[in-house]
Amino acid sequence: MHELSIVLSIIDIARNQARRAEAERVERIELDIGLLAGVEWDALDFAWKAAVPGTILADAERLVHRIPGRAKCLECGSTFDVQQLYDPCPNCSSPFNELLSGKELRVKALTVC
Ligand SMILES: [Zn+2]
Repeated sequence: MHELSIVLSIIDIARNQARRAEAERVERIELDIGLLAGVEWDALDFAWKAAVPGTILADAERLVHRIPGRAKCLECGSTFDVQQLYDPCPNCSSPFNELLSGKELRVKALTVC
């Protein structure tokens, strides 16, 4: 399951960061997850509950920032919201755009204690 490997890598990151800070536990973790990152939210939540107990993240408060998709048209330069990859430009219908945001999948911040 894709989401489980995501959660496991988040736990790894948290463990490494906490060790570096000589912290014993993580109080809060903030994640950036783009709406176009291909992450199923329910599956991620399920994987989280399965994998996190007993780890350094067991008691951590989880904050998720969901980043909406934004793209810039390579033809006319307008920027617009995208619901999925390769949405055409609403201004000129060009399929060529540069994704500005929406594929984030990262640990934004960790609070340790
Ligand atoms: Zn355009």
